[in-house]
Amino acid sequence: MKKGCKYGTHRVLEPQGVLPQAAYKIDNDMNIYSNEILIDVQSLNIDSASFTQIEEEAHGNVEKIKEKILEIVNERGKMQNPVTGSGGMLIGTVAAIGEDLKDIDLKVGDKIASLVSLSLTPLKIEEILDIKVDIDRVDVKAKAILFESGLYGKLPSDMSEALALAALDVAGAPAQTAKLVKPGDSVLILGAAGKSGMLCLYEAMKRVGPTGNVIAMVIDEAQAEHLQKWGLGHKVIISDATKPIDVLNKTLEANNGKEVDISINCVNVQNCEMSAILPVKDRGTAYFFSMATSFTKAALGAEGVGKDINMIIGNGYTKDHAEITLWELRESEALRQIFDQLYL
Ligand code: NAP
Repeated sequence: MKKGCKYGTHRVLEPQGVLPQAAYKIDNDMNIYSNEILIDVQSLNIDSASFTQIEEEAHGNVEKIKEKILEIVNERGKMQNPVTGSGGMLIGTVAAIGEDLKDIDLKVGDKIASLVSLSLTPLKIEEILDIKVDIDRVDVKAKAILFESGLYGKLPSDMSEALALAALDVAGAPAQTAKLVKPGDSVLILGAAGKSGMLCLYEAMKRVGPTGNVIAMVIDEAQAEHLQKWGLGHKVIISDATKPIDVLNKTLEANNGKEVDISINCVNVQNCEMSAILPVKDRGTAYFFSMATSFTKAALGAEGVGKDINMIIGNGYTKDHAEITLWELRESEALRQIFDQLYL
């Protein structure tokens, strides 16, 4: 067995010299190198921004969605949406471990979730078995490879695989929220009724304590009712994250006329940068978890309105992100029930 680069550059086909995430095409030959892990894949959780884009392009037609996913993977050797650039993650069973990785805490037969993006993971799909359009999940017969630097998590035994897959897909968001939000903060969460939005809401409420204010921004009345019923968020506002002035006005109203300390963008569509920037006070923080965020629009937009704020790119990884996220579901019976109901 040959040894590959720990970051997977040995599988980059074009253009040469880049890392697998930035590559247009990678080698998805399923014969592993000595420092790779082979996975029998059970399900893919396609990133929400990516799935939404593919679904729109396919006009909701499931067969066309299937075709598009297969076309992307066959063309690129990985599930990276050419429009959004994003991937998602997978769950599956360890099928083989390269001889140079024999000391890792994993054995053949273990069930794992990949905690690195599908946008850099060699993947070969034999068959798409089912697509659950409501939750962006694709059940497959497929194989994938994890590089030596690839993060993974063993699936917990105290919750369903579907639940773990759903939560771990967005694990970076609640874990980053836990690190950013301080007691007494006012926090605006955009797209708060979505998967990452609800996890961030729960974490933010825990962190701000009794003197803070967590504002959940949602797109419609039904989402607002759900969050209110579940007690997620101190205040709920209904707006459209592509309409920044409306979001600003409603946020001010919900925050005693003041701008917020932190905004967190969990929306899955484009053009929401200014709704996360305008309502934040000077020296405050806007955290862009959404993969539909444009660096250019955020940077030039903030400059254009004279906002001196910290803007954070939503790194999918932050230390202990999987543990923090799964812990939320163990700690909160309500959250667990909501996720069980929505993501099974
Ligand atoms: P999700 O569950 O689909 O949630 C997105 C929410 O945004 C939904 O409630 C959606 O409402 C709402 N929404 C859509 N358009 C809106 C608008 N114009 N105004 C207000 N709300 C709107 O998505 P998710 O899985 O939480 O993911 C959220 C974002 O995080 C996505 O962009 C995804 O790509 C990104 N992500 C990032 C990372 C990372 O590493 N940074 C990892 C995973 C995911 P409807 O359901 O009614 O459309």
